[in-house]
Amino acid sequence: AKRSGGNGLSFYAREMSASSAEKLVLETHLRHAVQRGELFLNYQPILNGQTGRPSGVEALLRWKHPQRGVVAPDRFIPLADESGLIVEIGAWVMREACTQGKRWHRQGMDDLSVSVNVSAVQFAQPRLLETVRTTLEDTGFPPEKLVLEITESVLMKDAETTIGMLKALKNMGVRISMDDFGTGYSSLSYLKRFPIDIVKIDKSFVRDINEDEDDAAIIRVIIALARSLRLTTVAEGVETPEQYGFLRREQCDRFQGYLFSRPVDADLLEQRIRAGG
Ligand code: C2E
Ligand code: CA
Ligand code: CA
Ligand code: CA
Repeated sequence: AKRSGGNGLSFYAREMSASSAEKLVLETHLRHAVQRGELFLNYQPILNGQTGRPSGVEALLRWKHPQRGVVAPDRFIPLADESGLIVEIGAWVMREACTQGKRWHRQGMDDLSVSVNVSAVQFAQPRLLETVRTTLEDTGFPPEKLVLEITESVLMKDAETTIGMLKALKNMGVRISMDDFGTGYSSLSYLKRFPIDIVKIDKSFVRDINEDEDDAAIIRVIIALARSLRLTTVAEGVETPEQYGFLRREQCDRFQGYLFSRPVDADLLEQRIRAGG
């Protein structure tokens, strides 16, 4: 409700400046987080439906702020994007994930693929190609085991440039996954138009799969379309046996979610994989 007089306005202005001051503080702290070693990765398994075992993991960034504890990526990734810090942070994530992936391969889990999230801001940087190339060279991680997860917002930029970038990445042997699929615009045509290997069905569709006929229908369409284009389908946010059952019946290829494991640190993930989970 609108309050009378100048009071409401000044209240609003104060609230605004508080939140942008807060952002500035976080941004300043984030600037140092890489150097101070406050960033770390968690990994969440992605199950192969045929074997019931993890065929890959997704690397998910965490920030252990010295005073505030662990800050969720939804709070600091947008800040990193706005400030451009994401370029440096993203390069660190890629190197860390590929180094860990190589370690796992050496320890005998040599089929494991590693997925890394790449924001639209990162993707718009031509030097992303160089970052990927040198990271793969330096770490010795095989390109065909690296998956870059991009969102539809990446594709909404200049199509020619985007296709060029995707092709260059694919020429290196890296695979591309379309994350949060179905939440953006005109997504179905994107699948045909852009060289993509994997489609990740957004967890918002998975959530109500067993209650909402529309969500169930959307998932069926996505899986059918992906199959006809020979793309691998991954369902994220699988939390219940019922959701898993539905997705298996619809012949989704891969599954990720709390039902199998939350994102955990590399050691715990390795223990779980070795234990047969
Ligand atoms: P995302 O790429 O869509 O990642 C999946 C998110 O779903 C993760 O949240 C994960 O913890 C969560 N999740 C996994 N299984 C379940 C489930 O069964 N139920 C529910 N409700 N959630 C589940 P997280 O780790 O908080 O990451 C949030 C977002 O932050 C990511 O969404 C991604 O967009 C971004 N992000 C994370 N790490 C990075 C990174 O290294 N670089 C960039 N650019 N973005 C990142
Ligand atoms: Ca992702
Ligand atoms: Ca996602
Ligand atoms: Ca997301």
